[in-house]
Amino acid sequence: MDTFRAMVIDQVDGKPKAGFRNLTMAELPDNDVLVKVEYSTLNYKDGLAISGRGRIARRFPMVAGADLAGTVVESRAPEWKAGDKVVVNGWGMSETEWGGYSGYQRVKAGWLTRLPDAFTLEQAMAIGTAGYTAALCVLALEDWGTIRKGEGEVLVTGAAGGVGSVAVALLASRGYPVTASTGRPDTHDYLKGLGATQFVDRATLAEKGGPLQKERWTGAVDSVGSTTLANVLAQTVYGGAVAACGLAGGFDLPGTVMPHILRGVTLIGVDSVMAPAAKRDRAWALLAESLDRDKLAAMTTVEPMDRLPELADAIMAGQTRGRVVIKIG
Ligand code: NDP
Repeated sequence: MDTFRAMVIDQVDGKPKAGFRNLTMAELPDNDVLVKVEYSTLNYKDGLAISGRGRIARRFPMVAGADLAGTVVESRAPEWKAGDKVVVNGWGMSETEWGGYSGYQRVKAGWLTRLPDAFTLEQAMAIGTAGYTAALCVLALEDWGTIRKGEGEVLVTGAAGGVGSVAVALLASRGYPVTASTGRPDTHDYLKGLGATQFVDRATLAEKGGPLQKERWTGAVDSVGSTTLANVLAQTVYGGAVAACGLAGGFDLPGTVMPHILRGVTLIGVDSVMAPAAKRDRAWALLAESLDRDKLAAMTTVEPMDRLPELADAIMAGQTRGRVVIKIG
């Protein structure tokens, strides 16, 4: 326990560079709660950070990893005690705060979510930021109120990815008919297993389309952005809503106001990083209630920390399926 391994991003010649390093307790930030990290995950943002393709770390050195799950070792905060099982998603970890790819981490008490009884630490990381963001998107659509159980179609873009897979599983188990947009036809059986009933080739959504197209989606979860999101908005039914959380296809939004001003379509922005605790609790409660554990297992692979560099390249190339849990050690 004198030293432990971490994946650290440094700045070399003005560019972020990731590598493994041994850290000591004395090097960890002076936050209230020391956690022995057992699992982390690989999200798209982690891929950007490790591969150097995105400027995620905003100070250096930075311990990467947007998520962690583990056990409290010691706490100066009265609400947490040694032995508590905890999860942290976001709160700037891997950006401005040291993150989860580390044998131990010291975090602020307010960032911790108590591990729901319904999940093991490994399952909590199988969900991770991507899955908890999918839950925030589903909540946003349900709160908006235009998606209907057993009626219409709810679209999920980037369906075979992490956010997409959890969104498909959650929406299907809550009774909404799910259409999955994917660029990988070989994932259709996998997505059917998660509950998708119809498919759209992602190439058709990536082509620029008209400002108002045939109304189809009562709601949508979009992790792709760009032309895809513009088309999804143009195909959303009168009064419907789209929960947008991602930019896997690009961060631009080349659309028009027409769906909004002529069909009353709403674009709901979803952020997981700084979401307040009450919203997080609702999302985890929804996951505990509606995420089928067999489906969660079917969408998850567990990988050792050593493979992070190659896994980061794979998620950047859109080649990972579902969720990747990282065993810390
Ligand atoms: P994944 O890589 O697991 O999933 C992204 C999926 O998008 C891919 O599997 C692929 O799905 C599709 N995709 C990839 N590249 C393209 C492309 N060029 N054009 C169209 N579709 C593409 O990533 P995550 O699920 O972890 O994250 C998805 C997005 O959500 C990311 O942009 C991420 O930054 C964002 N995100 C945002 C959060 C927030 O707080 N707002 C939190 C978590 C994630 P398929 O093969 O099925 O077509």
